[in-house]
Amino acid sequence: MKVSYSKLNTWNTCPFLYKLKYIDKIEPKDDLSPDNPLFIGTAIHEGIETRDIDKAIESYKSHFEEITPENEVEIEKIKTILPKAFEQIPECETYEYKLDIPEEFIGYIDGLVKNEDGTYDILDFKASNNINGYKTSPQVHIYKYYFERITGNTVRDLYYVFIPKSSVKLNEDLSNKSDVVNDLADRDVHFEKVEFDRQQINYFFARKSLLEKSTSFQKRYSSKCNWCPLKKFCKSNGADRSELK
Ligand code: SF4
Repeated sequence: MKVSYSKLNTWNTCPFLYKLKYIDKIEPKDDLSPDNPLFIGTAIHEGIETRDIDKAIESYKSHFEEITPENEVEIEKIKTILPKAFEQIPECETYEYKLDIPEEFIGYIDGLVKNEDGTYDILDFKASNNINGYKTSPQVHIYKYYFERITGNTVRDLYYVFIPKSSVKLNEDLSNKSDVVNDLADRDVHFEKVEFDRQQINYFFARKSLLEKSTSFQKRYSSKCNWCPLKKFCKSNGADRSELK
């Protein structure tokens, strides 16, 4: 079975959600909230890759038919944080490096930096302040394992690169929009270096093997249900289809 990091992670989080997405192929509607983390993360990635703020904003705007005042606040946030990202994140030799092993794995390395000694560093960009939540993630360990296996090159260092978010919540009447944007002006990109852990690879293969043998996909209720794109569908046992495309 070919897995991606997010596919396996979905199964780890909730086997039932995995079944809905990857077996039943049920697609949730796009979340068109102005602060949709997926839209913002994609725009930030685009900006870092092209070093072009306009391209990042185009990417963000492309998801919306109409740009509202709430969207404009998100655009201001992108304009505030990207110059810092350009200054603090090194130019990578390759962005979105595809790792593809038939019947086994697919993934994309956000940024590869080539070192003077011929080794590489792997950067994984996160538009998030949740440093503790991500730094134990197996993702970059798995990417190092496959990159070295596919190319024969050596990966020296692994980094999660956190592009900060504003910690000020926007009021409904937008009265604090300058506070929301100014909060970002005081923040820097954070590099979290992680030491390669072989155990993460063993764990990855053990979980992959369990997934391949799985025949039962139970609901796993947790705090993550709050962010589940199919929570109404799940909780109504399929009766509420309002979240579906
Ligand atoms: S709401 Fe919770 S239990 Fe239901 S599919 Fe989503 S994550 Fe799983």
